[in-house]
Amino acid sequence: MKITNITAYILRTPLGKERFYSSQCAFPERNSLLVKIETDEGITGWGEGGQYGPPEPVAAAIKHVLRPKLIGENPMQPVRIWEELYAFTRDFGQKGTYIEAMSAIDIALWDICGQYLKQPVHALLGGAFRQSVPTYATGCYYRGEDYLDYKGSLAALEEEARSYVDAGFSMLKIKVGLLSVEADLERVAAIRQAIGPDSALLVDANHAYNVHTAIRMAKGLEAFDVRFFEEPVTPEDRSGYREVRNATTVPIAGGECEFTRYGFRDLILQGCVDIAQPDLCVTGGFSEWMKIQALANSFGVTVIPHVWGSGVALFSALHVLACIPPTPHTANPVALQNEPVIEYDRNPNPLRDELLFTKLEFEGGRIAIPQKPGLGIEINPSALSQYGQPF
Ligand code: CA
Repeated sequence: MKITNITAYILRTPLGKERFYSSQCAFPERNSLLVKIETDEGITGWGEGGQYGPPEPVAAAIKHVLRPKLIGENPMQPVRIWEELYAFTRDFGQKGTYIEAMSAIDIALWDICGQYLKQPVHALLGGAFRQSVPTYATGCYYRGEDYLDYKGSLAALEEEARSYVDAGFSMLKIKVGLLSVEADLERVAAIRQAIGPDSALLVDANHAYNVHTAIRMAKGLEAFDVRFFEEPVTPEDRSGYREVRNATTVPIAGGECEFTRYGFRDLILQGCVDIAQPDLCVTGGFSEWMKIQALANSFGVTVIPHVWGSGVALFSALHVLACIPPTPHTANPVALQNEPVIEYDRNPNPLRDELLFTKLEFEGGRIAIPQKPGLGIEINPSALSQYGQPF
């Protein structure tokens, strides 16, 4: 089998009044970078690359730099192809755009392998530990008006938090970092009250803090039974991560802005995180994921993937979620929360909800692992042309 064509697609949809904010920025739109790889056997694979950044540079890297290297290649050799593309781009790549482009390509190649062998990707990665995975809702962002009057928006925030519990989620991840520590702790307290003591609460700052403010926030979070504190400081500040981690009993998570085994090697070796959060579409795709997972496992670091993006990203993540071993193993991983969990972004995103004919099976707070060959997805061509176009 040979690769005959590679096409990058840029998908984009404005959110209008539904826009929301993290500590870093407004989200006035949702966008995704998809790649389609075609073969001479008639098998077509799909992948997604990147998360928050503009998709154009990733599309350009695919179209102008990586595509010519791949036409005529055997798509059944994704690990070799990854290593060769990394070596080719090392002097100007290593992190960022090129690795996101390689992530999309790698995911599409594994999709092709699975379809050719008539196996789901998780079977090719070594086998699924589970048929469904516990799910956490990501929500309770800032809505804009809370810049000016967060007390006035607390009731709506509580209502949103309760809606996730009512929908069957037992875990919720919320945002902090846009307001003062005191104001954000009031929001955390309101949400904890709204969801009750039995739901797990996760808190994400999107690297809003310097070390001493992050420690002040972490100390405040200790009162609310927070299961992890995500991205307390900037991704480059490894010693800062370590200081925060050493100063609090709340587990520290991070890694959504980290790339490849080399980035995670440093994050883990320097004792920055209890929980590593590689994003499959950012960190290098399935081929690199397996190396990061082995690295984290060998240092006793839990892996919980970061998931954003379209339905392609979400379904791809389910395959790695299937393959994460309980860490550490016990006969009752549920009691110790040693089972991996999948992030399910609940912010508005038509690219997640409408792009695929394939429907997500969410029940009892868990999402079913796909069982069809490859990624197990079917793109809806009319949604694809509604939201995107080839680059
Ligand atoms: Ca995050």
